[in-house]
Amino acid sequence: MMSPRSYFGGPSPLQKLDRISAPFPDLNLWIKRDDLSLAGLGGNKLRKLEYLVADALNKGCDTLITAGAPQSNHCRQTAAAATMEGLDCHLVLGGESPALPTGNILLDNLLGAQITFTEKHLRGDTMQNVAAELENQGRKPYIIPIGGSNGIGAQGYVRAAEELVTQFGENHIQKARIILASSSGGTHAGLEYGFRRLKAPITVEGIRIDKDDGRSLSYESDLANICRELDSITGRSLQLQATDFTVNYSCSSRDYGQLGAEEKDAISLLAREEGVLLDPVYTGRAFAGLLTKLKSGQYTKDEHIVFLHTGGTPALFAYADQF
Ligand SMILES: *Cc1c(COP(=O)(O)O)cnc(C)c1O
Repeated sequence: MMSPRSYFGGPSPLQKLDRISAPFPDLNLWIKRDDLSLAGLGGNKLRKLEYLVADALNKGCDTLITAGAPQSNHCRQTAAAATMEGLDCHLVLGGESPALPTGNILLDNLLGAQITFTEKHLRGDTMQNVAAELENQGRKPYIIPIGGSNGIGAQGYVRAAEELVTQFGENHIQKARIILASSSGGTHAGLEYGFRRLKAPITVEGIRIDKDDGRSLSYESDLANICRELDSITGRSLQLQATDFTVNYSCSSRDYGQLGAEEKDAISLLAREEGVLLDPVYTGRAFAGLLTKLKSGQYTKDEHIVFLHTGGTPALFAYADQF
């Protein structure tokens, strides 16, 4: 069940990237604008939150708790969804409280969220402690996992897969490859699940954002676990395995959130050629990975390439000193 209120809005636009694709006349390049959504400057987490917050409301909860990096887009979108339901929101951010709260932290404050800073590895425990304290005060907290990436949240992207299949039909697109930034996994897992359920000829290629050599297939196992939860929620039995997912590790040698020349070039290119603003952590890195594959001729003209813009642009302001 999803929330009666839409935080995402949508369907989001599917736009052609004509100027960027000019050097590749054989290829069709598109962008799906999930950054353009309703609440709190938008992004992919709002699609998941429509299901997660519905679950919280069903359970009679009055406070949302979640966690992330200091510039977490997920936390900012959770704070925005909370305001739309009159819920309180408590955020646990891994890192130090900055001297100048900017980017997403500025927005978290404006949206009225309470923030606790802690060490990165203590975020899970801290969420539990905050929940216990609230319960002692007679409140009913609801903990949303980092990135909103469980089966409940991933339903938002199962639904997005249906939206894309409709848009592909309208645009006479038969075969497509979706390229997206993949991090906590709910977006990637939900899309893969959604396209398989519809038996649509669409490949989902996740560009891994976190530092990871990919050798252990542990991220693919996380994606399969989210899909196992989707099986139990939907009552279907797709039984996706780790090997069913396409994860590209070409951008995952740098630490999460470290801005390099590749990300900056991708951000500048899209800004100057298409008027589209990417973000420094996720979409900048993922688009850099897409450009590398485009330039080396690894995509073929029989499939349309669709970049999923998952949002995150408010974080740009926190990286102002690096541009
Ligand atoms: C969270 C986030 C992602 C990654 O989505 P997951 O579902 O966590 O894999 C990608 N882009 C942006 C801008 C995000 O905030």
